[in-house]
Amino acid sequence: MPTTSTPTHCPYCALQCGMALSPLPTGGVEVVERPDFPVNRGALCGKGRTAPAVLSSRVRLTSPLVRSGGSLVPATWEEALDRIAAEFGRLRSEHGADTLGVFGGGGLTNEKAYTLGKFARVVLGTSQIDYNGRFCMSSAAAAGIKAFGLDRGLPFPLEDIPRTGCVILVGSNLAETMPPALRFFNELRENGGTLIVIDPRRTKTAEQADLHLAPRPGTDLALALGLLHLIVAEGRVDEEYVRERTTGWEDARAAAMAHWPEYVERITGVSVPQLRETVRMFCEPEAAMVLTARGPEQQSKGTDTVGAWINLCLATGRAGRPLSGYGCLTGQGNGQGGREHGQKADQLPGYRKLDDPAARRHVAEVWGVDPDSLPAPGRSAYELLDALGSDVRSLLLMGSNPVVSAPRAAHIEERIKSLEFLAVCDVVLSETAALADVVLPVTQWAEETGTTTSLEGRVLLRRQAITAPEGVRSDLEVLHELAARLGVEKGFPTDPEEVFEELRRASAGGVADYSGITYDRLARESGAGVFWPCPAEAEAEGDAEAGQDGHGPRPASGTPRLFLDRFATEDGRARFVPVSHRPNAEEPDDDYPVLLTTGRVVAQYQSGAQTRRVDELNAAAPGPFVELHPRLAARLGAAEGDRLAVVSRRGRAVAPARITNGIRPDTVFMPFHWPGEGRANTLTNPALDPTSRMPEFKVCAVRVEIAE
Ligand code: SF4
Repeated sequence: MPTTSTPTHCPYCALQCGMALSPLPTGGVEVVERPDFPVNRGALCGKGRTAPAVLSSRVRLTSPLVRSGGSLVPATWEEALDRIAAEFGRLRSEHGADTLGVFGGGGLTNEKAYTLGKFARVVLGTSQIDYNGRFCMSSAAAAGIKAFGLDRGLPFPLEDIPRTGCVILVGSNLAETMPPALRFFNELRENGGTLIVIDPRRTKTAEQADLHLAPRPGTDLALALGLLHLIVAEGRVDEEYVRERTTGWEDARAAAMAHWPEYVERITGVSVPQLRETVRMFCEPEAAMVLTARGPEQQSKGTDTVGAWINLCLATGRAGRPLSGYGCLTGQGNGQGGREHGQKADQLPGYRKLDDPAARRHVAEVWGVDPDSLPAPGRSAYELLDALGSDVRSLLLMGSNPVVSAPRAAHIEERIKSLEFLAVCDVVLSETAALADVVLPVTQWAEETGTTTSLEGRVLLRRQAITAPEGVRSDLEVLHELAARLGVEKGFPTDPEEVFEELRRASAGGVADYSGITYDRLARESGAGVFWPCPAEAEAEGDAEAGQDGHGPRPASGTPRLFLDRFATEDGRARFVPVSHRPNAEEPDDDYPVLLTTGRVVAQYQSGAQTRRVDELNAAAPGPFVELHPRLAARLGAAEGDRLAVVSRRGRAVAPARITNGIRPDTVFMPFHWPGEGRANTLTNPALDPTSRMPEFKVCAVRVEIAE
């Protein structure tokens, strides 16, 4: 193992901050700043800074566990793997391959995501694979593909933000979710640009804004349509751009013109003068951006909502031009790469479509199988979880904790309990792992090498810096061993670089083309990464401007900026998609008169499986709370800290009151990181977006009571 510090990246969010890990005399590692990485320049949030604590956590799993007599008891690796293979083999022969489910995660490295997708389709022969990234950015991905022909979270590097004129940030609290990214927006304002934040709460991010709009939850679509109406009415459409670089404008224009500002004000609660001011701030500068995150995306109309914001960019000539564009701030560490390499129900590596015959032929050739043997697209994440215990009898779960993170979580917990067989790979006994028949303890980020792809589409190399504890194995080893036991001896290497070499070939010619990227090249790029697409025959020169602002970090290579000449559609033009306002799947009524929205806090990450094991983070964010406006609190007779019960049609969650003027009086907020009585996802609505199959995490109807 290295005796000097190892440059690598944070295991948590999609910013993938650069850090170095330095060996400690005691045998562990400590985090050291890495100012050379151009995104965070050494800055880290508390999660990244404390990430090594999970490596040496006292609750770390170091032995496989097998259920026996109702309890999980330690077992050998041979016993555990044999049991999984035997159960999967039995269920497949008795009930068919599609009764076997596989559920992955947006935190898995590219190599793991790729191998998991291949394992499901080649070894198990099942169509029933999806992953928790479906719950993250799938609406933005679907809208981006419709409009631009391609989904890469940000089609430009973050370094462009300080040099644009205005950014509209829709439903992102990045001051808490990815704090080092805030500097790009601070620099934007220092340079004379403006920041508009759209969020029902006055978040830490909204406090930094030049203009904060607080729409009613679930009305971002109407808001975008009202803005587009005003853009047309005020003669601010870039007619030449629309004519030359887009199609479909007339229908989108007609849809927007049906959304009068006064009508939009009634729907959203955002006043007409605020709408006008937003249009002025967005349209006056030469360049501007719209960035969305989970707020508008996690809705049952998420794809249309993001589409409406893209329409705004297209009508004003703000896409595919320098320092302008639409982008999605992906959330999970490898949320971007995780959706490109085949663990998604409808996709093959290279961001290819599973139902595309040419894609099937290409990938089947790389895999050495008959294209006709590849299954059809399967169920989306929520639908797969909802089918557990009925159509889907067993599940292999890797890198996810749906008992805490799935919508309508109490129901999903019951579905998981009703499985005939559950196998979980994890580093700790998560709430989902605790329900398993077999738990396999696996290596973590600093104990293994692999690549991730950041929210910018920047492919990065995470390097092994420390030896894994005795008793744990990598996810790749697990899949290799299971494949062999299920009769597939070859094609599942345990060496991540070997997997990446195959991934390069599988992705070649696809939308997300990694064929020009190698581990050597990633190491040579001084850790700044390589932006995809990066085809082998056109090793891009790199970007002369990225990172060149006097601070010295080396620019990354590949394709940092997309769409400058043409969009990724057949005719090279972006597509307007006509969309119209529609209500939330669940609106308030007499029984459930308040809206609930959910989100994250700075000291915890996703389901908390890792961060809830770090003392420093627990001290900073010990548990859930219900944020509510003083007027609502007065109506309830609630004081700060009182235990409140939040009740939806799906269940009840209890947490202490946190009273603030920074939230709409018709809305309460809960963070979703905790299990138990304060589990926010007990309440959330699984109503699905018809295109992306994203559940409506971000808004549902509840009533709030003082808990007895
Ligand atoms: Fe890690 Fe994200 Fe925090 Fe950076 S912002 S240190 S990537 S959790």
